[in-house]
Amino acid sequence: MKSIISFVIRYIPRKYLQLVSHFFLRVLAIFYKGHDVMCNVCDHQFRKFLPYGRKARENALCPNCLALERHRLMWLFLQEKTNFFNGKLKVLHIAPELCFIDRMDSLPNLEYITGDIESPLAKVKMDVHQIPFEDNSFDVVFCNHVMEHVDDDILACKEINRVLKNDGWGIIQSPVYDLENTIEDKSITDPAERERMFGQRDHVRKYGNDYAKRLSKSGLNVKEDRFVKTLEETKIQKHALPVNEIIFYCTKG
Ligand SMILES: [Zn+2]
Repeated sequence: MKSIISFVIRYIPRKYLQLVSHFFLRVLAIFYKGHDVMCNVCDHQFRKFLPYGRKARENALCPNCLALERHRLMWLFLQEKTNFFNGKLKVLHIAPELCFIDRMDSLPNLEYITGDIESPLAKVKMDVHQIPFEDNSFDVVFCNHVMEHVDDDILACKEINRVLKNDGWGIIQSPVYDLENTIEDKSITDPAERERMFGQRDHVRKYGNDYAKRLSKSGLNVKEDRFVKTLEETKIQKHALPVNEIIFYCTKG
């Protein structure tokens, strides 16, 4: 099982995988019946979550809504630390994650817009280097697992900063490694070499501990929030949350 999952996610982009995997996972969910873990994104309970990842991690993927550890953490963060569920907010969700789309779209307090350069899941076709909205348009912008793929991450962040309202906020997550500095080399274009250097065939850099500082060069204020460290162990176990994930909470600079 683990090796099949590793193989499939290595060669099929997640956004396409999400479209076809739903039915398959619903069937699998029968074998994961139980009450030991609970997905706080969709409120379903299981014996455990499915393994997921290139080197498959146990207890990661919700068979019902496809939320991963990081999605469950972000959802909890939104619930506990933001006005996302009660503010009257205009939201831009770049490269929207399937597990969030329907749930966010149905929240009555939101004007919810999804955008992506190629994902069939998004409504607006857009390039994050040139966001097709006016300055000061959005109360909230989400842009997760995008920056490691784009040519110019600082320009992309400048664009997010531009379209945020003065009191707007955003979350910009990326895979961050325990390196002093981000590794980037624009001369590396071969997918196999990119995989070796940056961790995946379509990544153009590998972020280190300077991630927040680097994105801040765009003008955005980027704060590292170690929210998961403030949670009780029972909650972390129940939702299988990622204990080392930092939430990168941004405000307009
Ligand atoms: Zn779920």
